[in-house]
This record gives sequence, structure tokens and C-alpha cells, in this order.
Amino acid sequence: MSFDDRRRNVRSLLFFLLALLGTVVISVASSVAGTASDETVAGPRYVPTALDQALPPSPEARPGPRVALTFDDGPSPQLTPYILDVLAAKRVPATFFLQGDHSEAHPELVRRVHDEGHVVANHAWEHPWFPDLTPEEAEVEIQRTNEVLTEITGVRPTLFRYPFGQPSPGGDAVLARLGMSNGVHWKWTSNKPGDFQCPGADALVDYVLTESVDQAMILLHDSGDTVGCPPAQLEYLPRAIDALRARGFTFGVVAPSPTPSAVNSGSRAAVVPR
Ligand SMILES: [Zn+2]
Repeated sequence: MSFDDRRRNVRSLLFFLLALLGTVVISVASSVAGTASDETVAGPRYVPTALDQALPPSPEARPGPRVALTFDDGPSPQLTPYILDVLAAKRVPATFFLQGDHSEAHPELVRRVHDEGHVVANHAWEHPWFPDLTPEEAEVEIQRTNEVLTEITGVRPTLFRYPFGQPSPGGDAVLARLGMSNGVHWKWTSNKPGDFQCPGADALVDYVLTESVDQAMILLHDSGDTVGCPPAQLEYLPRAIDALRARGFTFGVVAPSPTPSAVNSGSRAAVVPR
């Protein structure tokens, strides 16, 4: 082997090593990027159907009984992305009562809820039983959640829903001082199982349709116990939306109202167009 041959061999070995190094750098970089997006999405995604793609830009701009889909306890990487996918594909606005601790852990999901036109509302920091809290603890639960949501979205929440729907005088005093609604409840008169009890998609379509009357606030979840249900249960959402539309319903969001809502256990809130 001549000196020149050896030099050529060394050069091609160097070239090979550089190419190998490049491949390693690229694959490490893409696996890091993959990890980052996996933190936001840890569950199924919804693929729009042909029916979804044929929807007019504003399917809600028509008269008809109006309901509000409300999602509590989120956000969660397991359920929130799918629910947002469905709402975007179906052009349905919704109201999300978010927990402060989950919002702090997943600000990108809170931002997505806000950016996609839904209402961001307060569901306390870590879902406590308010009757057991001191007035000071109640204040921290509500205020701290307002602060993290305001920091992420730039909008101060005006709606609060008590965890378990359980109010307390201490909590009510904080809400009055902050000028927030006095605890948004929901309509639940059928005694059918809720989504957190994992009854499956068929039962949940039945629950949503049964509870739906004009001005009803429908209680649903995008975190909490519902995360443990079989993922196929999520199919209730696109099916229930299509079925409600077929029955002439439109979809609104929850807004503060001075008039107690008879349909929703006296909540000082109404279902309004977005
Ligand atoms: Zn809750």
C-alpha cells in the first residue's frame, strides 16, 4: 500500500466517522423534540371526518336551544388534546373549569384552550372539599388559580366552579370580593352515570342527550378519574355533538349572569353564544 493510498484510506475513515457523528446528533435531537411534544399529548387524537370538513365556518349562527359543554379538572395530556381536536373539528365552543396545579404543569394546554376560543374558568388549585377549608385556605385556592390562569392566557377568569359542587361561606366571601360568579353548578337530573364513572361511549351519549335542554350546562371532565377510563369512551363526544346538532341544538359558553339559572341549580351564570 503506497503512502497516497494510506492517506486516502485515512480520509475516507474520517469522512465515515463525521457522517456517523452527524447521524447520531440528528437522531438525538429528534428524540429530544419527540419527548417535548409527548409531554403535551399522552392520549388519542381525533381525526376530522368528511362531515366535519363540510361544516360551515359558523355552524352556531342559527336559532335553537343552546347548551354549554363544560369540562372540569383539566388540563391533562391524556384527554384534553383529543377533546380540543373534536371541538375544533366540529366548531363547538366550550367552557373549561381548570385546576391550578394541572394548569401550572401544562401551560401549553391552557394556552391551546384559550387560543382555540374556549372559555378558561377557575376550578380551584387542587380540587379540595371547600367546607373543610379555613377562609384563608379558600382564598389561596381561588386566588392562586386565578393568578396562574391569568399569567398563561392574559385574561382574568370571571367564573368559578366549586370542586364536587360543594360551596362554603369562606369561598363565597372570596368570590364576592373578587367579583366572580358565586359558584357555577350544572344540570344533572337524570341520575345516569357521569364520564368519571367510566360507563362507556354509548351511555355517555345517552347522558348528554338526556340532560340537554335549552340553557343546560353539561358536566364533563378532561382529567381526574376520567383519565382511568378506557380511551374508546372518548368517542362519546363527537357522537353526542352530531346527535345534538341533528336535534336542532346549538352550543354556547358559560358567562356570569345576575339572574340565577333554574336549569343549573341556581348558578348565577347563563349559556351565551361565543
Ligand atoms: Zn372537579
